[in-house]
Amino acid sequence: EGVEPTSTQNDRLLGGLMAPGLDELSCLSRYQYFRYRKTSRKPSSYLISRLRSYEQLHRRCGPNTESFKKSLQQVQSGHIDNTSDCNYVVWTFSNGLGNRMISIASSFLYALLTDRVLLIHHVPDIDMAELFCEPFPNSTWFLPLENPFNDDFKIFNGQSPKKYGNLVMNKKINTSTMPPPTHLYHYIAYDFEDQDKVFYQDEHQAFLVSVPWLILKSDEYFAPSFFLMRSFRQELDMLFPDKETVFHLLGRYLFLPSNEAWGLITRFYDAYLANADERIGIQIRVVNTQVNPFQSVMDGMLACLSSQKILPDVVETKKISTETRPRNQRKSKAVLIASLFPQYYENMKSKYWTRPTVTGELVGVYQPSHEEYQQFGNNMHNVKAWAEMNLLSLCDVLVTSSWSTFGYVAQALGDLKPWILYTTDSQVKHNPSCLRALSMEPCFHFPPILGCQAKYMRDNQVVFPPYNDCKPHVKLYANTSDPVHVQHCEDSTFGYKLV
Ligand code: GDP
Repeated sequence: EGVEPTSTQNDRLLGGLMAPGLDELSCLSRYQYFRYRKTSRKPSSYLISRLRSYEQLHRRCGPNTESFKKSLQQVQSGHIDNTSDCNYVVWTFSNGLGNRMISIASSFLYALLTDRVLLIHHVPDIDMAELFCEPFPNSTWFLPLENPFNDDFKIFNGQSPKKYGNLVMNKKINTSTMPPPTHLYHYIAYDFEDQDKVFYQDEHQAFLVSVPWLILKSDEYFAPSFFLMRSFRQELDMLFPDKETVFHLLGRYLFLPSNEAWGLITRFYDAYLANADERIGIQIRVVNTQVNPFQSVMDGMLACLSSQKILPDVVETKKISTETRPRNQRKSKAVLIASLFPQYYENMKSKYWTRPTVTGELVGVYQPSHEEYQQFGNNMHNVKAWAEMNLLSLCDVLVTSSWSTFGYVAQALGDLKPWILYTTDSQVKHNPSCLRALSMEPCFHFPPILGCQAKYMRDNQVVFPPYNDCKPHVKLYANTSDPVHVQHCEDSTFGYKLV
């Protein structure tokens, strides 16, 4: 591991995903990542060329450029004067880090598909600061603090009269409005409304092309929806011949751990995980501890680990170990636990300390932090969360929690199809207690259908099955011979994902 001469330049750049020639010390993870993760899905040569041309666009149109200034002046003056040929999509936050990352990646995909420049609205010193390296060479992806949208950011929510869906619904705007507005707001968070679905219609996308600034508020992985749209389908097929790699590739490209986060990741990995024969990551996300108390989650997790043979059982009765082999002849497994709570780790560590395993394997259990509750506006809290997502992604086997975007990021970065534990349902006992994911992609929890009752049309054909057929694993077809690679999620029957 880490032997430079045997590694080619191409490995260092993750198969061409990363631009060459940047200062290594300013972002160590950019060129060191491959030492920790040997396999990587290869990007298509078309994606590579689109990323390089995106980087040029970002440099030409990004903050501190003449085009940028001119474009913002249009927003201030209220009319489009064609002095700038740059268009933008501004992402603004809602919810935790995993939610933010999946929605940023979706926004970046949208930027690629529509030739817009992606900018991130952030609050200085807290939240997103210091987690990532700047992804786009010789530029910044942060929207300058001084900008004409600040007042709107503060009040922008699902009910805003200014959001695109409401403007359309209230007939303030339509797809032939001339001249088009300089900027529009669009809402794609979990509590979106029916009228917000227009964003996913081809004729509305054709109109939005003429609007220079689009501000998106999102906490969702809305990328899968683009695969159901005629406007984008052909381009997406070229970008991603392998549909399952969308977040994997875009996420690795965009979200490079900052030097601070990379220190947390590598120190932990090197000290606790590197020497094991196999690494097992377990992410336990319990949002409501009343509904899912410790013991029921623990029981479900142990049942999963045992039935799927992820970890060895321990001997039933107290007995003296009869193990005679020396340490180096026994397999070792390192278990990484990520959770806000310490009990799962304590319990499992004690299990493997007090009893021998039936196979004689050695099991070490580690947990980097236990923050107790989700915190906002605390940067070190976010750095730890980001480090733990990465550590999970560096494991060989992954167990995640249903519905958790934190787990989605880990699985997709790591090219891992996780075992998903049910941690969100109340009272329901699941048998088996976990389910293998069909793909590493994140789930779009609240896609533009209303549950399964709504019928979604593509090329005038029903894509989604009627309500009664709406079970997990029902493949969604535009017609019987044309698989669309979009399928209901394992952990959310009305959500859907790429497979
Ligand atoms: P989701 O709510 O599970 O979909 O994931 P999010 O990442 O969007 O929000 C959960 C937030 O809670 C994270 O961003 C962290 O701030 C915190 N959190 C949840 N689980 C963990 C964990 O295992 N480790 C750490 N360090 N933080 C966690």
